Amino acid sequence: MSTHPAMVIIGAGQCGARTAHALRENGWDGEITLLGNECTAPYDRPPLSKAVLLGERSTAQCAFYDEAFYRDRRIDLRVDACVQKIDRGARKVILKDGRSIDYQRLLIATGAEPRRLDVPGANLEGVYLLRTADDANALAEALQPSRRIAIVGAGFIGLEVAASAVARGCEVVVIEAGARALMRAVPEIVAGYLIDRHREMGVKIHFAAQIERLLGTTHVTGVKLKDGTQIACDCVVVGIGVKPRTELAEAAGIDVADGIAVDDTLRTNDPHIFAAGDVCSFPHRLFRRRMRLECWKNAEDHARIVARNMLERGETYSEVPWFWSNQYDMTIQIAGMPAFGVQTVVRETGATSRIFFALDRDGVLVGASGVGKLAEIARDVRVAQALIAQRACIEPAKLEDPAVKLKSLVAAEAA
Ligand SMILES: Cc1cc2nc3c(=O)[nH]c(=O)nc-3n(C[C@H](O)[C@H](O)[C@H](O)COP(=O)(O)OP(=O)(O)OC[C@H]3O[C@@H](n4cnc5c(N)ncnc54)[C@H](O)[C@@H]3O)c2cc1C
Repeated sequence: MSTHPAMVIIGAGQCGARTAHALRENGWDGEITLLGNECTAPYDRPPLSKAVLLGERSTAQCAFYDEAFYRDRRIDLRVDACVQKIDRGARKVILKDGRSIDYQRLLIATGAEPRRLDVPGANLEGVYLLRTADDANALAEALQPSRRIAIVGAGFIGLEVAASAVARGCEVVVIEAGARALMRAVPEIVAGYLIDRHREMGVKIHFAAQIERLLGTTHVTGVKLKDGTQIACDCVVVGIGVKPRTELAEAAGIDVADGIAVDDTLRTNDPHIFAAGDVCSFPHRLFRRRMRLECWKNAEDHARIVARNMLERGETYSEVPWFWSNQYDMTIQIAGMPAFGVQTVVRETGATSRIFFALDRDGVLVGASGVGKLAEIARDVRVAQALIAQRACIEPAKLEDPAVKLKSLVAAEAA
């Protein structure tokens, strides 16, 4: 064993970088090693499908911190250090190049990777995924005016790429296997509201569309659906979800359940090893179930808590989830888990702005989705977050009525 107590983090992404920072902020004075495999310092991913594709920001401008930040805090950031194995017995991680690093506490923050299309032609040139800065740069280059872009998947990534591609002057077709968009994220009425806007902007959308193959010899030229429809295109963007990178944990005998299984302190079944961010599934006290989130705020919140728990502070995680997206001039903010609702109540907060409240079977508020102008939705979504944390049961008539201040309901619930 090393004589130097060391915190080792696998994954130099958002959660890994923020955890390294939080360890120092919480007074850890020993070694911190942050191991990444993207050959670049940790960066923010949300701009990749928005500002970067729009040409408003370079990927270099998405870095969380500069070099001095890591140097001044004695964070040993290694950006070309792919971890191949965790040796739990010896408390070491082994890198691809054979070197090993001892740990006192280990965090696995390896994130998630995009699912690939499994049809003939999926490896043709002109087929893009979007997870990394390199992916975003390649796709930004492909989104030239008048190009025909076929996007597979009407999830958030697919719809954000659609909006960016329209803004770049491309012709856009979205191909979705499900009966509607955003199936796992929001109720149908919310998805419909967003899709209406995409259609207004000229995006063509095929629902319940099964892809038979991608067409082309070296470069993709089209998509053939199982019903015989052929969609000509110059490039294809695949946005069909992600899978958590659990391989290292599985090989080391760490429990996995749709992500690395952690308890509510983000600790795995090995007391020296934690997991956080997109890669882990955790029990959520508020929703009384195990869940895995793939969003920016969750990576931030997890980093803050896991750093403290690597220092044995024993804190539990129970934040209300929060997610945002930007498409055209619309902001989407989601608090809680709207998909867990069985009833939706709509509040109009502006000419084109709406808050969609999701209530569960018992009338408990479990989610709120704001769609529209930022100034017309943000405050209500923030208040809804507090109501969700309270497991508030509110009469639908009050939620619906813009004259009823949501804030007054928080106080009433707390009383
Ligand atoms: C294009 C895009 C747009 C997004 N937009 C939004 C948005 O608008 N709103 C929102 O809330 N969320 C958004 N997200 C999601 C958000 O960015 C993620 O939830 C967040 O990045 C998760 O952070 P993470 O640290 O868990 O994983 P990641 O950021 O994926 O970091 C994991 C890192 O671990 C590295 N790694 C993996 N295996 C190894 C190994 N064996 N050795 C060393 N390193 C390894 C990976 O290469 C990666 O760098 C978006 C994501 C993408 C891709």
